Amino acid sequence: MDATVAVTDVSSVGPNTVAIVLESPDGFDARPGQFVKISAAVDGEEYARFYTLSSPDAHETFEITVGVDPEEAGPFSRHLLELESGDELDISGPFGNEYYEDESHVVVLGGGPGVGAAVGLGERALRDGGSVAVIYKDDAPAHEERLADLRERGATVVVTDGDLADHVSEVYTDGAQAFVYGFADFVQEALDALEAVDADPADAKVENFG
Ligand SMILES: Cc1cc2nc3c(=O)[nH]c(=O)nc-3n(C[C@H](O)[C@H](O)[C@H](O)COP(=O)(O)OP(=O)(O)OC[C@H]3O[C@@H](n4cnc5c(N)ncnc54)[C@H](O)[C@@H]3O)c2cc1C
Repeated sequence: MDATVAVTDVSSVGPNTVAIVLESPDGFDARPGQFVKISAAVDGEEYARFYTLSSPDAHETFEITVGVDPEEAGPFSRHLLELESGDELDISGPFGNEYYEDESHVVVLGGGPGVGAAVGLGERALRDGGSVAVIYKDDAPAHEERLADLRERGATVVVTDGDLADHVSEVYTDGAQAFVYGFADFVQEALDALEAVDADPADAKVENFG
């Protein structure tokens, strides 16, 4: 589906990280782990980039979380950081096959801006009565309030800027569905960590941000 939608809220949720709430167009539905394409012109240049749902559902509104790496990011993510309520964006989607499908035991590994997918998916799985573990790697964490809330509501939440493998071996149990969201280096580290606990990386649902 293609639509032009209004931004209804923008809030800072950590260093160089914003959560952007968008109107859901009529008939739009998306599950945690799916993503939308956002298109806009920045300084006369057209861009299109993908952003993963960071809300537990897309009823009426949905949220994305954008993390801007001060050294690597290009103009588009910086542009999103400057958005305000009432601005409009062109979106299409939802896209992706690596999303939450009511699994009862989830382990979500998020790196950098992949924390958005991790909190949205964790919230949805808890709401559905599932068991939830989130392992989030970042040297400047975001979404701390929602991570704390997940922990209070019974999820296992680990925030680290160290070695993922140690934490995956503490948290992962057989039969859990693993989800991995983040940029390429993080995805590789996460898959290696899963393999080290004898979880088949091919069974993980993985979205590589690039
Ligand atoms: C399926 C999918 C889902 C995605 N979901 C999200 C999401 O939920 N949130 C989100 O912020 N981004 C997400 N991305 C990445 C997003 O689409 C953009 O690539 C990102 O915002 C950078 O865009 P840019 O034009 O500013 O920089 P570009 O010029 O496109 O960036 C160039 C390169 O810099 C590196 N880079 C850029 N930003 C970062 C960062 N924050 N951390 C580490 N390396 C970085 C990457 O290697 C990238 O390829 C997703 C990408 C894909 C493919």
